[in-house]
Amino acid sequence: MTTRAESVRRRADTDDILVRAACPHDCPDTCALHVHVRDGRAVRVSGDPDHPTTRGALCTKVARYLERTYHPDRLTTPLRRCGPKGSGRFEPIGWDDAIDEIATRLGEIHRRRPESILPYSFAGTMGWVQREGMASRLFHRLGATRLERGICSSAGTAGLQYSMGAAVGMDVESFVDSRLIIIWGSNSITSNLHFWSIAQEAKRRGARLVAIDPLRSDTAARCDDHVPVRPGTDAALALAMGQVLIAEGLLDRDYIERYTVGFDAFAARAAEYPPERAARITGIDAGRIAELARAFASSRPAAIRLNYGMQRVRGGANAVRAIACLPALTGAWREAAGGFLLSSSDHVPADNNRLVRPDLMPGWPDRLPRIINMSAIGDALLAADPPIEAIVVYNSNPVAVAPDSNRVIAGFAREDLFTVVLEHFRTDTADDADILLPATTQLEHFDLHKSYGHRYLVANNPAIAPVGQSLPNSEIFRRIARAIGFEDEALAASDESIATDALRWDAPAVGGASLEDIRREGWIKLDVPAASYAQGGFPSPSGRFEFASERLAAQGLDPVPDWLPPHESPEMAPELAARYPLALISPPHRNFLNSTFVNIASLSRTEGEPFCDLNPADAAARRIADGARVRVYNDRGAVELVARVGERVQPGVVAARGIWWQKMSAGGRNVNATTSQALTDMGGGATFYDCLVEVDAIG
Ligand code: SF4
Repeated sequence: MTTRAESVRRRADTDDILVRAACPHDCPDTCALHVHVRDGRAVRVSGDPDHPTTRGALCTKVARYLERTYHPDRLTTPLRRCGPKGSGRFEPIGWDDAIDEIATRLGEIHRRRPESILPYSFAGTMGWVQREGMASRLFHRLGATRLERGICSSAGTAGLQYSMGAAVGMDVESFVDSRLIIIWGSNSITSNLHFWSIAQEAKRRGARLVAIDPLRSDTAARCDDHVPVRPGTDAALALAMGQVLIAEGLLDRDYIERYTVGFDAFAARAAEYPPERAARITGIDAGRIAELARAFASSRPAAIRLNYGMQRVRGGANAVRAIACLPALTGAWREAAGGFLLSSSDHVPADNNRLVRPDLMPGWPDRLPRIINMSAIGDALLAADPPIEAIVVYNSNPVAVAPDSNRVIAGFAREDLFTVVLEHFRTDTADDADILLPATTQLEHFDLHKSYGHRYLVANNPAIAPVGQSLPNSEIFRRIARAIGFEDEALAASDESIATDALRWDAPAVGGASLEDIRREGWIKLDVPAASYAQGGFPSPSGRFEFASERLAAQGLDPVPDWLPPHESPEMAPELAARYPLALISPPHRNFLNSTFVNIASLSRTEGEPFCDLNPADAAARRIADGARVRVYNDRGAVELVARVGERVQPGVVAARGIWWQKMSAGGRNVNATTSQALTDMGGGATFYDCLVEVDAIG
């Protein structure tokens, strides 16, 4: 087991033990935490004041982490269903009985038709150990169906891979010296708080902040300018900016010639998007598009902080590619505070194969089990062939967070589906479990974290003993593997061994640090140059920024980024758009993180009731008053919300917020009753913001 000896130190001013930890949530900030422990109980969670991006501050959610950890509703013992499926009626059982029953059921399917087992997980915890380290090893060994985990960021990741070669970008700390920061598709105050602090500091030093977002979010309202682009049209905006840069000669020709490929093909594509055309597509005035392009070229350094909201549409990967072209055109990468950042994940020398061991799959590497995309879990549970007979859910709450909820709910309601859920609480998904297992929270287990928003590795040392009988995910999967009879060493590996496997420790970026060093110090910064691409050196096949991708051409795909109208748009589905004329987006509430924290009373009280923003023109046309109860619906389903009428959205746009639990929503459905299982252009991503609806007043 994990020793805490080297990871704790006594604070001089109190008797509290201070344990160095990491925030586990799906947030680019990956804060370094201090957990204050008194007599074996955590009494406070605070931000590490010495960590250069955390700087002692946490978001409201995690500052209240103890309300989660010691919540009276915490699951503290294994449970077995004793009522009808979905009734939420359970009886306590012992760990041995629970593990035996799971091992018996999974073992039987494994011997007969292993692809009928499906793991379902995402980023409920981001740590290498408790996320997939042991879980994926077990499911690979079982020969289970592989889950394509595209619900969040995979379109953007694909866009980066076909442009830069990997998910790499600026050092977030460098933004402090930027003169122009475009915050594109991100409500940073909600989803990237510590970047917002850096942007604020840049503003104090004279930077101009511009938000590009269909919603006048808290962040957009505090920027110098807000560009309210229509959902799903970001690529057209970026291509038009590119057209202006090229037409007006606002290029860094030397950078383009030495460090990029495919410029001529990009220039031809951009020529199809003069600002006047882009204005019709995006809803942004042509003059404003041109001004933004000129500002991006003339401000030195100029930087773009992109986030994932804008890639949750049909053309998500293309949109990321189009935006990524802008700093390559202007040579913004020459300075550390110029360029762009969507993800910094691939600056980390991770060793994913050693971590999750795909070689344990029967048939590796030639005949691999089928793949099911997690965003189409509703259809998969209802119609996959061969059928899914058992699903094991961990680090996720698909009944609430997956698109097209009515299909998902129907799928999980199958009496013949054996459902195992590892959870902290009785979520919507937990209610459908046959066996419900209590998992530890971040304060109770060990982990090691990379970040997709900064360049640090952060250790999570356990601060307290597990609450009740809860166990770490890794231990639960070890026990299941042992009970099935698997004797592979990889399935018995300790948490420390899994963490060791996660990283290439001899990589220069790690700087010779060891796991013990990181645990003791709490975090280390990766040794990656600040101005990483000042002289090219992109991790693409050509070593250059790729305006045009030969790899895409080889797949028969368009090698140059383009604007792809949303699946649900007048261009792609005119009949649908006539019936459902409003474009719905559903970005996160500030005090929730996906569906986590929704049951923390102090936080849900702050958010009030589930609502949506409507423009006054759309509200008037439907006789909807501010504060009225409305039904937001399409052919897939409906959700009841309170209308907030105002200028936060443009006409034609509705902005709900995610992600309330279904059972906490009026009518028993959250906004995902309306969202679609359709996927993005590349990367198999979800298209939550590619959704047409109508809105009616209720009553
Ligand atoms: S959710 Fe994000 S901002 Fe909040 S503590 Fe975690 S990493 Fe930091």
